[in-house]
Amino acid sequence: MLYVVGIGPGGPEMMTAEARAAIEAAEVIVGYKTYTHLVKALVGDKPVIKTGMCKEIERCQVALDIAQSGKTVALISSGDAGIYGMAGLILEMVTKQTWHVEVKIVPGMTASIAAGAALGAPLMHDFCHISLSDLLTPWSVIEKRIRAAAEADFVICFYNPRSRGREGHLRHAFELMSPYKAADTPVGVVKEAGRRKETKWLTTFADMDFERVDMRTMVIVGNQSTYVEQGLMITPRGYTL
Ligand code: SAH
Repeated sequence: MLYVVGIGPGGPEMMTAEARAAIEAAEVIVGYKTYTHLVKALVGDKPVIKTGMCKEIERCQVALDIAQSGKTVALISSGDAGIYGMAGLILEMVTKQTWHVEVKIVPGMTASIAAGAALGAPLMHDFCHISLSDLLTPWSVIEKRIRAAAEADFVICFYNPRSRGREGHLRHAFELMSPYKAADTPVGVVKEAGRRKETKWLTTFADMDFERVDMRTMVIVGNQSTYVEQGLMITPRGYTL
């Protein structure tokens, strides 16, 4: 049995009861090393197989092999495993290849939801997720989606806004959005949402400081009606008050 578990964005209080039960039921835990420490208390002395970044296929193979040998395995992703996590790859491998493993995808709270709540209620209307990682997606496709989402006035949540080798991507994304986003459009930034070191701030489209953003950061750009009041980022649903 292989549970593909989204452990939520940070602390145990943001993990679902189902995720907790899957980790408790597992005999072996497999995960990216930054995330395995977030579940340390739950794991106890069970074997934990940690792999580094860019080892996704290997990590999934390891998890599937152990599950096929008869053990219950929890493969953990931060946030939700189906949002830039391991769920899709596992299902691609299981459906196309020769593993005979029962797989259960256990949902988790994705980073945008935790960041949205920390900022106020910015996701009250239509919103989308765009990852700025071009490791697996051509940059031209990412550019097209940024333009289209901005033109359609979605609230946009940027995942993977910056990392080594991608220093300029967020700035470039803002340039692409600039024909559609007014200078005073609110932008909310949350670093390490739901974790002990969480930090957040509000700025505007024109004043965005790209240097403060790192790879553990969620950037939420408002739509035409998003505003800030008493330090809260609010996107109206449309109710008349
Ligand atoms: N599966 C994860 C996303 C993995 S992609 C999820 O559903 O949340 C990794 C990106 O997610 C990071 O670069 C960052 O932009 C975002 N992220 C993940 N956890 C975060 C957190 N606790 N706070 C802010 N952003 C986070």
